[in-house]
Amino acid sequence: MILVSACLAGVDCAWDGKNRLDPKIKEMVDKKEAIAVCPEVLGGRGIPRTKTEIRVSTAKVIDENGVDVTAELLKGAEKTLEIAKKYNIKEAILKSKSPSCGVGKIYDGSFKGKLADGDGITAALLKREGILCRGI
Ligand code: SF4
Repeated sequence: MILVSACLAGVDCAWDGKNRLDPKIKEMVDKKEAIAVCPEVLGGRGIPRTKTEIRVSTAKVIDENGVDVTAELLKGAEKTLEIAKKYNIKEAILKSKSPSCGVGKIYDGSFKGKLADGDGITAALLKREGILCRGI
């Protein structure tokens, strides 16, 4: 079983209330080869919600209004890890650039579309636990 970002599976859980459908990911979920999880919804953030980025200099997650939402994203990461452990997940395919799911590159916190090296909060935690994370 693989863990995937729910928005990639067609769930309308992105910050703008839309999905980021990748038909191959949805097919995996439909065939029960993958489990779809949205860390930000698990962390208590609503749909739709304000846009957030990790301010890479401070490692805090700030929304577009300057509100610190780090605690919610950490909670979502912990809950995602619980699910991953329950299903003995060894691999995850995650939505690129997200402050939760991004792998390798994330927006830098300037809200100017600039990318920086780094992982989203959930991706970082899953990696620390030995789960192979790939971003798409
Ligand atoms: S937190 Fe992850 S799964 Fe949820 S909308 Fe953002 S990228 Fe998609």
